[in-house]
Amino acid sequence: MKRTLLVLLLLLAAGLARAAEVSVRDSGPSTHPGTWECVRGHTIQARQLVLDNGKIRYAFAYTGCIDPSHGEERPASEGNFGMPEPTRCNFYAGGFIGIAINGKDAVRYRVIEAATLETGARGSFQVLFNHPDAVVGMRLMLLPGGNHVLCCVQWKPKPEATVNSVAVTLRCYPSYFTTFNHRDGDRHCMTPRTDEKETRTLALVPAEDAWLYYYDTIFDVARGEGDGPCAALVAPEGLTSGAVSLGSYMVGTTLNYRPEAGTARLGFYDLAGLKNAEAEAYLKQHGAADLAELRATDFRPAVVQHFDAAKFRDETAKLLAGAAGDGQRLKPKVDELLGKVTAEQGAADTADWQAEARLSGLLRTSEELLWELRIFAMLNG
Ligand SMILES: [Zn+2]
Repeated sequence: MKRTLLVLLLLLAAGLARAAEVSVRDSGPSTHPGTWECVRGHTIQARQLVLDNGKIRYAFAYTGCIDPSHGEERPASEGNFGMPEPTRCNFYAGGFIGIAINGKDAVRYRVIEAATLETGARGSFQVLFNHPDAVVGMRLMLLPGGNHVLCCVQWKPKPEATVNSVAVTLRCYPSYFTTFNHRDGDRHCMTPRTDEKETRTLALVPAEDAWLYYYDTIFDVARGEGDGPCAALVAPEGLTSGAVSLGSYMVGTTLNYRPEAGTARLGFYDLAGLKNAEAEAYLKQHGAADLAELRATDFRPAVVQHFDAAKFRDETAKLLAGAAGDGQRLKPKVDELLGKVTAEQGAADTADWQAEARLSGLLRTSEELLWELRIFAMLNG
């Protein structure tokens, strides 16, 4: 009895030591009858995923109609993937990102999976979409103390399919829903190179326009108006051209990528609460460093990056031996785990995001089993 209690206490201590610095909360999918999203009465799937580092909280809302009449498509009138927090404006709550492959938005297709990848030292999740020509994934990550979300988009052509064009589209309403509230604003987009205002189109220079700062001179927190601006980081790798279309209401950004690039990296800042001058100063001071960090980030879950199969096998074998009788009892569980981990590792080595997520999940659940073994090895040793 005493021994069981000690094991429980040690497991609890091990758990507390890993308490999350950055958390990911996934509501899981839910359904409701559709109204405005699609045809009234169709079944709408919704899901919310939240990244929170204690300093800022980004919420993402998925919406898609799952009526069988749509086949693999998941229509949603406002877009499928929105950012309702920190603010509903800025990167739009209803839908702020699209990934057009051969002219068709992948985000509008069936979700293959949505999975939490990491919590703790970093927080991240991924969503994969079943585009007819490619499996398209999006990983979103928040770092401790970070004020923006890091994003990696991946497209993998399906067998027999060719990806001829890739465009990431972003939609924002800087600081305020002007037209909806019968107000006029003054939308701008600033980059390290230039500044353009509504109702013009800004052609981007991939090597220079590393950040896009979306603001409104009327709806400035300094004037007691609006929620504050937003911004995007755009890594130049694979980017061939881009444009920011500054409407008097919505600001649309299109980023075109080389189809062979396979991935694109972006960052999203909701700078709610900041005055325009503060946001501009932040980007001028930190934009380059944030871009460097984005480009250097390994989006694979840390447990997958650092996983060494041979070492893992050795360690479990030693612990099983050390845990004596308790090791004998736990051995079938450990063997099953080792089998699964080996199977997933092969696929993860080919940048298969689903395999990486499964491996990361296995390694996270195995941590508890390993702690149990360590404690038994200590007690029985
Ligand atoms: Zn529908």
